Amino acid sequence: AKSSGRNSYKFYTADLNARAREILAIESQLRFALERDEFVLHYQPLVDMLTGRVVGAEALIRWQHPNLGLIGPAGFIQVAEERGFIVQIGNWVIREACRQLAEWLARGLPKMTVSVNLSALQFRQQDLTAVIEDALTEYGLSGDCLDVEVTETVVMEDAEATLAAIERIKAMGLSLSIDDFGTGYSSLSYLKRFKADKLKIDRSFVRDIPGDSDDAAITRAIINMAKYLNMQVVAEGVETREQWDFLAGEGCDLVQGYLVAKPMPAAEFATRYGETPGV
Ligand code: C2E
Ligand code: CA
Ligand code: CA
Ligand code: CA
Repeated sequence: AKSSGRNSYKFYTADLNARAREILAIESQLRFALERDEFVLHYQPLVDMLTGRVVGAEALIRWQHPNLGLIGPAGFIQVAEERGFIVQIGNWVIREACRQLAEWLARGLPKMTVSVNLSALQFRQQDLTAVIEDALTEYGLSGDCLDVEVTETVVMEDAEATLAAIERIKAMGLSLSIDDFGTGYSSLSYLKRFKADKLKIDRSFVRDIPGDSDDAAITRAIINMAKYLNMQVVAEGVETREQWDFLAGEGCDLVQGYLVAKPMPAAEFATRYGETPGV
């Protein structure tokens, strides 16, 4: 047992070194990824449970790494936040999402909203409203084309400044979604002040419904609370018919998840969701 303990210790440090090297490699290359145009957005549909229609798409970033292939956000967003790159990357996401939506609309796709994920640094290190306004103007879009997703943690950090920025963003016609709802360390009282348009129930609550009675109760409570507060509810990570049926029965408004579709490249999204044929 002792020798195997030593072995696993060796493996452990080897793993750590590999991980440290990987982070270093990511850090040094992340710096250049923007100028090398290596980021790409994938889009996942948001579906209205009543009509079955796609009413929006969430833009989710990926990094097309020259030798490592397609890297998901879990592989680099945290490093980007720690090193401050997330501000420039996040600005690119806003502009690219606007560019893509304008292109879709020009090609005759039905009107929909594109949601972008915002990180706390984007509020803190710049005038985010100016960035958004420029992107909308450049691509000829109205504010209601964009939805911004922030987590409870973003909202709670530096609440006064964030609140001011969010109010200006909402005045521009954008909608606001609270992402990963229920997982942050926060007080519900912020819901009164931020007047979010949507609550996105985190996947961790959705995963085990309807079987897990605690998760079913939490999900039901979030849906009802959102209704009383006049917010729409989005269930994230819906993978099964059983989850869908439970959520429909509880009056959930919108659904996002593999049951409908995984995030996909823009071209595939356009093909699947309604380029008008023959126009
Ligand atoms: P998120 O905002 O909660 O996005 C939803 C994540 O859940 C996405 O992972 C999506 O692919 C995944 N997902 C959707 N439906 C299902 C499902 O049915 N089952 C399972 N197992 N997963 C599902 P992804 O694309 O890997 O993104 C992870 C996180 O990275 C996002 O979580 C978001 O926090 C962050 N992120 C993504 N794009 C951006 C970005 O442009 N800026 C910032 N700051 N963060 C981003
Ligand atoms: Ca999100
Ligand atoms: Ca989420
Ligand atoms: Ca998440």
